[in-house]
Amino acid sequence: MNPDQLAIHTFTNKPWSIHECIENYARRGIGGISVWRETVAGEDLKLVRKRLDDSGLRKVSLVRGGFFTGKDAATREAGIATNREALREAEVLGLPMIVLVCGATIGQTPEENLDQIREGIAALLPQAESSGIRLAIEPLHPMYAGDRSAVASMKDANDLAESLNHPLVGVALDVFHVWWETGLEAQIQRCAAAGRLFAFHVCEFKPDFDHVLLDRGLPGEGVNASARIAKMVKAAGFNGLTEVEIFSRKYWAENQHQFLDKIIASCADL
Ligand code: ZN
Repeated sequence: MNPDQLAIHTFTNKPWSIHECIENYARRGIGGISVWRETVAGEDLKLVRKRLDDSGLRKVSLVRGGFFTGKDAATREAGIATNREALREAEVLGLPMIVLVCGATIGQTPEENLDQIREGIAALLPQAESSGIRLAIEPLHPMYAGDRSAVASMKDANDLAESLNHPLVGVALDVFHVWWETGLEAQIQRCAAAGRLFAFHVCEFKPDFDHVLLDRGLPGEGVNASARIAKMVKAAGFNGLTEVEIFSRKYWAENQHQFLDKIIASCADL
């Protein structure tokens, strides 16, 4: 696909400021941007909003909310408060969606975690409704199920979204996290048929990774699942931008303009 069909997550180019991301993505003809809260920490959000509006980039999502689980009510309340702040940030920045990494607490069962996640998302819905911001549940690879997300497959994400049954609650599918899932195509179709396939992220899983979070691959590297899953997503009717979200100490050490060239080249075959 062409660059104008891509959106890039600012954390993909971690060495760049938000202003460098906006300028360089727009200059290269990238279609959109997903903004990480880390990238705009300490920034004047109204100024960032203006730069985003002026850039012509499509504003896709704020990344990320979530982390709803906790052993006591005070911890869970604090998690909800953080998400309320994220909703306010998304509103100021004009971003129509927040990606949720839902959380998991060591010592709790998957079911306990999922119940707390459901309650946390439900608590946010009135505020999400008043700002019209969509909440996209992103299932994470099960290697993160201990402390990052009890939502560990597209099936889990679909079940959770279905149980909440709200037009603002959907799913963000990331190839890195669900490439391994059997029956994935049926889960993608289930998600899209219900109007819940909100986002599609590309990034490859490298079985020989040297860091559990920060050694991810470009489309075509590692297990090379991006093209396969992009076809499924397209066949299911998804017509949003394809988001590139790659955390990589290896690529962050390179010249970021050259990394952007590699991203564009690697996505050309999707
Ligand atoms: Zn993602």
